[in-house]
Amino acid sequence: MPTQLLLATRNSGKLGELRRILEISGVDGLQVVGLADLASFPEAPETGATFEDNALAKARDAAAATGLPSVADDSGLTVDALGGMPGVLSARWAGRHGSRDERDAANLSLVLDQLADVPDPRRGAAFVCAAALVTPSGVEHVARGEWHGWLTRAPRGSNGFGYDPIFVPEGQQRTSAERDPADKDAVSHRGQALRALLPALRELTGTL
Ligand code: IMP
Repeated sequence: MPTQLLLATRNSGKLGELRRILEISGVDGLQVVGLADLASFPEAPETGATFEDNALAKARDAAAATGLPSVADDSGLTVDALGGMPGVLSARWAGRHGSRDERDAANLSLVLDQLADVPDPRRGAAFVCAAALVTPSGVEHVARGEWHGWLTRAPRGSNGFGYDPIFVPEGQQRTSAERDPADKDAVSHRGQALRALLPALRELTGTL
């Protein structure tokens, strides 16, 4: 019988991405479930100063509440000209009002406004993701992925979410919202961080 692995998210895109990575990498014996598949438990606010702190806190809470080995991620956009912000505040940079789509649109236009006078050579940015795996017996792993690029002056493209329409990966011309989503998985910050957990996930299938 497969071991259940909780990915502590309600985002079906992230669940699909982890399932695809496990399948492509030939990791058998893990059944990935999300928060929506389990009885709910109190989810603590994200108060960490780093992506790693937040990912570990979410994975620890999930493993303690469910008794399942749990993966959690935290991600955001770091902008050079803003001293690395919005960083861990990326999801709510322009406030907490409205739906997720409305917040994404407000966040993106606030960053564009803040960078209005910043010339092209100083528009560097990176998407960063930390992914953590915590088992109920207290084994912990955390990995980080970074995807570097620069920011456009206006949104382009309709794929993806969040800041994708203003982020152009290094060496590319198109924004990550103009790319095929499967191409993005292969190189993105989240894909890198999740793939870095594969050795620990493989070990899990042998030890449980
Ligand atoms: P979370 O880790 O799911 O809470 O995401 C934090 C925020 O970072 C999101 O709301 C987005 O604004 C931004 N973000 C993280 N990853 C991406 C990405 O791949 N594309 C665009 N925005 C992202």
